[in-house]
This record gives sequence, structure tokens and C-alpha cells, in this order.
Amino acid sequence: MPSAKIYYDSDADLNILKDKTIVFLGFGNQGAAQAQNLRDSGLPNDKIIIANRQDHYAEDAKSKGFNVEHDFSKAAAAADVLFLLIPDQVQPRVFNEQAAPHLKDNVTIVIASGYNVFYKLLNFKSTQDVVMVAPRMIGSSVRSLYVKGKGFPCFVSVEQDGTGNALSTALALSRAIGATKAGAIASSAREETAMDLFAEQGLWPNIIMLFREAFSVLKEAGCSDEALCYEMWMSKEPAEIFERAAEDGFIAQLKHHSTVSQYGQLNGSLKLDGTAIREHFKEILYNQVLNGKFCQEFSKIEADLEKEGDENPLNQLYKKSEESELGQAEKRVRARLAQLL
Ligand code: NDP
Repeated sequence: MPSAKIYYDSDADLNILKDKTIVFLGFGNQGAAQAQNLRDSGLPNDKIIIANRQDHYAEDAKSKGFNVEHDFSKAAAAADVLFLLIPDQVQPRVFNEQAAPHLKDNVTIVIASGYNVFYKLLNFKSTQDVVMVAPRMIGSSVRSLYVKGKGFPCFVSVEQDGTGNALSTALALSRAIGATKAGAIASSAREETAMDLFAEQGLWPNIIMLFREAFSVLKEAGCSDEALCYEMWMSKEPAEIFERAAEDGFIAQLKHHSTVSQYGQLNGSLKLDGTAIREHFKEILYNQVLNGKFCQEFSKIEADLEKEGDENPLNQLYKKSEESELGQAEKRVRARLAQLL
């Protein structure tokens, strides 16, 4: 597999955004951060429109000096560039019904997550550009790193090149929001979706399961709830390990541990046979994520996620997970700690 191309500020020309009207549909985590960064990069405020319903997000945008349009069809009609920065689950409905019918034929639509494009849930005209500029950071960090003059990791791709200029527009927009300062990695909606959903449905469920089972085995061996909660996560040791992995290296961070620990971790992990988990991971990746099975299943329960109480499938999953030995023990430990405070 070839290495990915990395784009820097020098690959992008902000001038091509001159005179373009840029609409941010959504002023939440990403919308607020990206719009402010883009304006601070020198794009004129009178060419930026925040499209938002009349509520606290709109008030926030106004208080930051932005022009706010409550009518999405009007905002869409004015857009040369439309950043689609509302939650993924509402994008198909809101974009297809309220924005798409009014967009110009040569508009550039910018997505920050591959999901809806990879699963073909958004309706675009073939003449339009569709690009992905997907920060790998929460919105507040997208803003704070920009303010500090630093970059942040970001994926960039062209999903549809209707005008023939989609890549240069994508790079100029990436530069404007501060994403090419530290290097934006060439990716695709497919790659972004595959990695995101695989982590959510393959990797992290296994990590949760490992913690749950390890907790039960150690508890059975006589360890207390308090000691276990602190030993396993409440001390924040796992967070520190991952921070060091990012800074020093996934394997090299082990050198911060005791010699006994280093030996145990390296020797133990090398002895484990990964064949079964590899097959399980492939099953998740190919037969759940990439073939669209999860997306189809999720769309069936999506509406129920708005419901209250036990009718909401997410609440049911929380309830079941909290019934585990780990979940119950943590509740007791936290209640005890709260009393002590
Ligand atoms: P938010 O949840 O912060 O979006 C909130 C914004 O969406 C508000 O402006 C809100 O306004 C608007 N919105 C919510 N529901 C609706 C609706 N039904 N109709 C119209 N507007 C609506 O989203 P994020 O910034 O978290 O995510 C935006 C995109 O960025 C997604 O594609 C996400 O995957 C991606 N992304 C997010 C990251 C993050 O930091 N969270 C990281 C990287 C990518 P109102 O409620 O007033 O309508």
C-alpha cells in the first residue's frame, strides 16, 4: 500500500476562495470552530453565512459577529461553498430536503465525516463538488490549536469532482480552517468511515469486554471494588499510556513502565494468538461496516433514539451494560467517594 500524500499550507491557495460565499450549515462543535478559523484566516465576514435555526447556536454565532440566516433554502441558494456541519444522523433529512434543491450546480459541499457520503445517503448533482475535510479533533481543539498558531490532524479527499477544481478548493478550505498547517492527510470517505466504524464496532467493544471480564476475574480472586476501579481506570493510567503512545510511540511508551511490567506486557502480547480475533475483526469490517449492513440496521432504529426512557434503544444498552459486575461496582465506589467529599 503506497504512503498517503500529505498536504501542507504551501499546497493550498487561499485566493481561489476570494469572492466565494461560504455557508456553514450548523454552528456546533465543528461549525463554530471552523467558521471562526476560516474568518481569522482572512476570509471576509460579509461572505460568510451561518445557517441555523433560531436558538442558542444562532445566538452564539451572532454574538461572535457572524451573519446568521434561519432560512436554510435561502442560505443554500447563496452558497458557493456549503460546510455540512450538523450531526451525521440528521444530515440526510435536512440536507436532502432543505438544502440540496436550492444549491447551485457548481457548489462545493464540504463534509467532515465520511459516513453519509460513503453510504450514499446524500443527494448531489453530478456537476457539484463534494469534498471531505475531516478534522481528527473535537471542535474546541480545532479552534484552540488554530488560535495558538498550531495545526491539527485532518483527513482531506475529493469525493466528487463536478467542476474539475475540487481538489484545489478542498485544499484552500483546509488551509483556511487551519488543517494544512501540520499536514492534512489524503484519505477518502470510504477509509474514514471504515476506520471510524471499525474502531467503534470492532476494537472498542473488545476493549470494553476485556475490562469487564478482567474486572470479574480479579474480583473473584478477592480484589476490592475500590482497588479495581482505581487500578484499572480511575487513576487515569490508561489515559496516560495512550498519551505517551501518541508522543513516544505505541511500543516505545512501554519504556516508562517498570522492567517487570515491560517484560510482562511484551512477552504476554507476543504469546497471544491473534488468529481468532483477526477473523472476528474481518467479519466486522467486511460483513458489517463495508457492506452497509450496520448502516441499514442503524437507519431502522434511528428514529427511536429520540424517544425517552426504555423505548430508546441506547438507554436499553446503557441499562444492560451498567448491570455488569464492573458497572455495579463502579456505581458503589463512586457513591462512596461522593459521600467522602
Ligand atoms: P453538533 O452536534 O455540534 O452540531 C450542532 C449543530 O447542528 C447546531 O448548529 C445545531 O443547531 C445543528 N443541528 C442539529 N440538529 C439539527 C437539525 N435537525 N436541523 C438543523 N440543524 C441541526 O455537530 P458536530 O460539530 O459534532 O458534527 C458536525 C460534523 O462534524 C459531523 O459530520 C461530525 O461527524 C463531524 N465531526 C465532528 C467532530 C466533533 O468534534 N464532534 C470531530 C470531527 C468531525 P440547532 O440545534 O439549532 O438546529
